[in-house]
Amino acid sequence: MFEGKDKMNKIKEKFYKIFSEITNLNLLEQLVEWDRQVMMPKGASEQRAQMASTLSRIAHEKLTSPETRDVIYEFENFVEDDWDKAHLREAKRLYERKVNIPKELIEEKTRLSSISFIVWEKAKKESNFNEFEPYIEKLLKVVKEIAKIGNSENPYDYLIDEFEPYMSSKEIEPIFEKLKEGLIIYLKKYFRNDCDERLKPIIRKVEIEKQEKVCRFVLDEIGFDFYKGRLDVSTHPFTTGMKNDVRITTRYREDFIPVALFGALHEGGHALYEQGLPERHYMYPAGQFCSLGIHESQSRFYENIVGRSRSFWKKYFKDINEICSGIYSDLDFETFYKAVNVVKPSYIRVEADEVSYNLHIILRYEIEKEIFMDKIFVKDLPEIWNEKFYKYFGISPKNHSEGLLQDVHWATGIFGYFPTYTLGNLLAAQIRETINKKLGNLNDIIEKGQLHEVKKFMKEKIYDLGRFYKPLELIVNFSGMPLSYEPFLNYIREKYDSLY
Ligand code: ZN
Repeated sequence: MFEGKDKMNKIKEKFYKIFSEITNLNLLEQLVEWDRQVMMPKGASEQRAQMASTLSRIAHEKLTSPETRDVIYEFENFVEDDWDKAHLREAKRLYERKVNIPKELIEEKTRLSSISFIVWEKAKKESNFNEFEPYIEKLLKVVKEIAKIGNSENPYDYLIDEFEPYMSSKEIEPIFEKLKEGLIIYLKKYFRNDCDERLKPIIRKVEIEKQEKVCRFVLDEIGFDFYKGRLDVSTHPFTTGMKNDVRITTRYREDFIPVALFGALHEGGHALYEQGLPERHYMYPAGQFCSLGIHESQSRFYENIVGRSRSFWKKYFKDINEICSGIYSDLDFETFYKAVNVVKPSYIRVEADEVSYNLHIILRYEIEKEIFMDKIFVKDLPEIWNEKFYKYFGISPKNHSEGLLQDVHWATGIFGYFPTYTLGNLLAAQIRETINKKLGNLNDIIEKGQLHEVKKFMKEKIYDLGRFYKPLELIVNFSGMPLSYEPFLNYIREKYDSLY
């Protein structure tokens, strides 16, 4: 008996030690990547790539080693409580996802994606798909091979599962179908021809220093902890790190403050999640963020549902104007509110409004899925892209830069990631409904400047649970209903019906 207890403690200790070391290696990799994007001198890129690949190789070896395998399967006999059980489940998932994929294939994918990335940058600038075609073809071949090893029946699901654990196209597809139907109608319904006139009044030069102050002010309002986090600048805003060291970036456009402001709110939402992970568990597999879709629900909630609401501008317009030395004094909050909510079919996903954004994702999802079913081939991509684009948006891109070459994902071998953006948007709307029901009217909360209450609510219902539940379970647990397209369509209808 005593001996058994002793053995149990040893195995348990070893299990948690190995996984906290893997977490540390991952965090180091993230830090090195943060530095690359924020601080690193340009000339260091080759040296930095080697640092990063060394770290990632060590982390991979550690995760897939026989030692890790043994401790995972021994730990199975000593699970004591539900958290142990969740950590074990997630540890197994991480291990099993990786262990069957030959190292050579992973290295080949990394090698091909860095070449393909360089060719893509040039091809995008020149809108030249033909130049890019052979590279993406080769890269895709390797990704397909990996995905088939991971899931021979539904290779694409293996890729989705990396970002959205336990989710497959079987769950996604019917939701996306309904969403698409609704959004095609809403895009026509809410598009107005006066977009430029509505944007014009808020296009004004504001010094970057003041814009940064505005970002820090709103981050403070939503509850970002600067003692355990930083705000910096990068070309593409992102969030990295976890718990006591969470770093976010934004970017600035001198004459248009919404770029920096919404960048900060978006990344701020991601950051609150990371800062709020469960104190006792965040170093271990089930103590970390539940899925990328749930992560994105946090960023989209603060960026769109909070930041683009009438209540937000009613409450904070004065403060923002003051920080900007009164440059907007001749305007009112309505002008800002209307300007940051223009709806217009456009080619570029990252610049899309709330109504059309998910159509961009659904288009990519449909193409990706058929690529992995061997129904679409690389050479047909331009035609299929343009055809679908016209069907959903009523316009056709004039060149490939604003068409299928716009995103970095495919160029770097990342397939199965796009759906998480839409899942995040849907879930953000579901969170809004839940808050309205259980915490109080969200608009009132915003207008009273009580966003800290929202953070507390999220902390208890989402952040603190990490990966204890599977994503779909967490959603039901939180909102009392399964993942659905309806709250999002309701949100869009309510908002834009009363916008004009
Ligand atoms: Zn995001």
